[in-house]
Amino acid sequence: ISIIILIGCQDTEETSNEDNLDKLQANQEQPYVGFAMDTLQDERWYRDKENFETEILEQGGNVKTLAANGSQEVQNEQVRLLLEEGIDVLVLIPANSEEASDVVEMAHAEDVPVISYDQLVMHAEVDYYVSFDNVRVGELKAEAILDIVNEGQFAYVGGAEQDNNSHLLREGAMNILQPYIDDGDIELVYDEFTEDWSPDAAQENIEALLEETDLDAVVAANDGTAGGAINALGDQAFDVPVSGQDAELEAIRRIIEGTQTMTVYKSLEAIAERSAHVAMQLANNETVETDTSVNNEAIDVPAILLEPIPVDSSNYEDTVIEEGHIDESDL
Ligand code: BGC
Repeated sequence: ISIIILIGCQDTEETSNEDNLDKLQANQEQPYVGFAMDTLQDERWYRDKENFETEILEQGGNVKTLAANGSQEVQNEQVRLLLEEGIDVLVLIPANSEEASDVVEMAHAEDVPVISYDQLVMHAEVDYYVSFDNVRVGELKAEAILDIVNEGQFAYVGGAEQDNNSHLLREGAMNILQPYIDDGDIELVYDEFTEDWSPDAAQENIEALLEETDLDAVVAANDGTAGGAINALGDQAFDVPVSGQDAELEAIRRIIEGTQTMTVYKSLEAIAERSAHVAMQLANNETVETDTSVNNEAIDVPAILLEPIPVDSSNYEDTVIEEGHIDESDL
């Protein structure tokens, strides 16, 4: 549509591109939402994109999504473009939680409110945050492991350092593990972030570790890194419990075959639906209701934190299959 309208306008010296964009904006009666994503890597993010776009359209808005391939610089540029196009609301998954505050300021300079989606932008006056309770996700992953083994040599395979969620997940896991570590029952022989959440990096790190020492359990930040650890463990994975999160198809397959202990299901439909709802409320100047707030070292950001659900071989059918997150025939 944009292209047709711009070609339709005669580009004289007086009619700058900026004027055309203003006209384009004026033509847009429906709220226009920009969705700036960090990446499309990892199974979930394509689904987030599709779900979010569908929700915005169903709720009566227009949406454009741009993904930054993990680069904050690229994301800054993409947000600049979205703002030039006249978005009313920015929904942002920061490429780097620590370094995305400029993006928020850029949007605010144009009076465009910003919703942090899944990952919180730190040190910025973000308007709203819609995510899951990631500390709780970390707790669930550690609790499930302790149900099976509560002593020995443990590894904590972290997420990407630049993702604030990695810190929340670790905090949750340590809430549960620390008393056992303090008592000397558990020795944490590995506790590192994993570059870019890369499953291959997780595999290499755990392979190197296994050359030095044995492992009794692994708490991994997500299913991708859990998969890497399980590859490194090889046949030992049937005896060494490993937990992850995201309820990815491969993780459910591993849970059924017995190499992964559990995962955590976070409804991608729910986060897309709630974020889209908040975006449309903001675009329509309606009041947004939130349940809680999360401090991002600048302010207490009003937040909606959805509940994560632990999934193992006993309940995957009643949860991820029942809710349509995974198609039984794909298993
Ligand atoms: C998300 C996880 C995801 C990870 C890697 C995190 O911020 O919360 O669901 O597995 O990023 O993409």
